[in-house]
Amino acid sequence: RLSQRLQTIAKEVPAGSRLADIGSDHALLPSFLAQQGIITGGVAGEVNEGPRDAAVRQVRAAGLSKKIDVRLGDGLAVLEPGEVDVVTIAGMGGVLIASILEEGKAKLMGVGRLILQPNVGEPAVRQWLLDNGWVLIREQILEEDGKRYEVLTAVTAEQADRTNEDVYRPQELRPGLTADRELLLKLGPYLIREASPVWHDKWRDEVKKLEMIHARLGQSELEASREKQAEIRREIEGIEEVLAACT
Ligand code: SAM
Repeated sequence: RLSQRLQTIAKEVPAGSRLADIGSDHALLPSFLAQQGIITGGVAGEVNEGPRDAAVRQVRAAGLSKKIDVRLGDGLAVLEPGEVDVVTIAGMGGVLIASILEEGKAKLMGVGRLILQPNVGEPAVRQWLLDNGWVLIREQILEEDGKRYEVLTAVTAEQADRTNEDVYRPQELRPGLTADRELLLKLGPYLIREASPVWHDKWRDEVKKLEMIHARLGQSELEASREKQAEIRREIEGIEEVLAACT
C-alpha cells in the first residue's frame, strides 16, 4: 500500500500521462501509477546506485519493465527533452528540488505539470516556480506518522490559461489580509486560503521554535544577536498576523 503522502501525489497525475519521477528510490510511485493504468509509461530517475537497484527490482517484480525505465543520473539529466509530460520530485528538501529544476530547465520542454513534495524549504520551490513562469494550481498539506508534508502542483502558464481551475491571483487572497511576498512564499497562498487544522498546527509549531531561538538570542550580549532577534520578532509577528486572520 502506498503511503498517504505518495497517494496524494499520485492523485495529481492526470490519466494518460508519461511521468518522470526524479529521486524515485524504490520507484513506488511510478509503479503504482502504471499498475493502475494511470500513466502510460515513464522514467524513474535516481542519482544513487542503491536506490536505483531497488527501483530496478521493484519494477521487474511488478512486471513493469516495459513501461518504466529506471535510469541512473543526476536530476533531470536522465531525460530527453519532450519525453515526458509530468514530473514528480518528492521527499527531498525544497532547495534541492529547486536546484534540480534549475539545472534541468532545458529538459522541461514539453512538460506541462510539476508535482513537488518538499520535506522542508517549501519557499525555495514556490520561488523557483514563480521565477520560471510556472503557475501553482494547488497546494495540499497532510500529516502522516507525526510528520507534515506539503504537495505543490504547478502547470505551465499556457495550461493554466486553459484550465477551469481556480488559479491563485494575489489580490484574491483573503479580504483584509495583505501578506507580503515573503510570507506568501513561506505559508503558501492556497494553504493560507484553506487554513486547514494541519497547516495551523504546522505554523503554530514554527512560531514556538522561533520563540525559542528568540529567547536564546536574548542571552547573548552581541549586537548581531539583537538584530537577529528583531528579525525573528518580525517573522513571528508576520506569521501570527496571517494565522489570526485565518481562524
Ligand atoms: N521520491 C521518493 C519518495 O518520495 O518516497 C523517495 C524519496 S528519498 C527520501 C530521496 C531520493 O532522492 C533518494 O533515493 C536519493 O538518492 C534521491 N536523490 C537525491 N538527490 C537526487 C538528484 N539530484 N537526482 C536524482 N535523485 C536524487
